[in-house]
Amino acid sequence: MVYLRRLFKNHLDETFHDILKRNVVTATRNYNHRVKSFLNEVMMHKSNPMSVEYFSAKLQFRGRGTAHNHGVLWVNMNDMEFMIESLDDKKQTTPIEYNISKLNSILADSDANYAQSLKDAIYLCKDEVRPKTYQNTIAEEQAKKVVLKFGKEKLNIVQDKLDRVLSKFSFVGLTSAFKKFQSHEELTTTEETAVLNFADKFTSVSLCPSVVGKEVVGIVQKVNQHRHTKACRKYDTSCRFYFPKYPAWKTLITKPNSSISDSEKAKFDKILKDIKDVLLDSNAIHKIMSDYEKNSESQIEYNVNREIKIKRLLAKAGYDSEEDCE
Ligand SMILES: [Zn+2]
Repeated sequence: MVYLRRLFKNHLDETFHDILKRNVVTATRNYNHRVKSFLNEVMMHKSNPMSVEYFSAKLQFRGRGTAHNHGVLWVNMNDMEFMIESLDDKKQTTPIEYNISKLNSILADSDANYAQSLKDAIYLCKDEVRPKTYQNTIAEEQAKKVVLKFGKEKLNIVQDKLDRVLSKFSFVGLTSAFKKFQSHEELTTTEETAVLNFADKFTSVSLCPSVVGKEVVGIVQKVNQHRHTKACRKYDTSCRFYFPKYPAWKTLITKPNSSISDSEKAKFDKILKDIKDVLLDSNAIHKIMSDYEKNSESQIEYNVNREIKIKRLLAKAGYDSEEDCE
């Protein structure tokens, strides 16, 4: 792409955009080919830690003919629950690496029976943190022993604690959590943590180069930020997609609250409105943002500063106590 851009800049009279406009069909076919390659070679690839099993995708065209895709993925939750985090706790500054291939290779290298009993054991231990549906305490005890052995021998965890071994599996509880989303049951803390971990590990809305890389930041700023169009005002609202969105420094699961009184609701609505007013005040936002060097700060600095920036925004809206921040 770099060479292509250089070619257009130095050797051709037409701009890249002009040539695209004259060759819409070719450009669309090229786009479609790239999407399909991404689906097959990256998304569905065996090495993808997201363990995508199925997908459904649709190609759509916007008003002036730009092609784009919408889609949904089905992830293999059982595989996901076997995934373990990087074994090196010291590497806190680098993104967490996923070790499913490592775990799989450990399982594959081991004696087949051992691998199977280990798998069974981890499943049984995972059931420990789920609502109990069975009373097989002997099997549970055996399972714990196998997991502890696995933790000590393969994961180099010396502490004799099951919690610590299981904590390496940060998506434990995901399967039951998604079942509960369908049945509207309350999630346990472990299940909630698994969902939050899942969201945090595979999605980001960050524009910080040290978090997602300079190239991604560049692409997102250029083509993937919300700009209001007439579609936003389709139902007589200023933006039916509710942009700008409220900022948060940690991932939250929102839950409907039916027991809330009208006066409480009015109080919360007022807080949200006051914050939205500051969000829409570009001078106020610029003043806060310009005090931080998002482009050069490290991931740790970014995380710290993000919280400070949001708290300054809340203060500007008139909410600055710890209680307000919650
Ligand atoms: Zn909008």
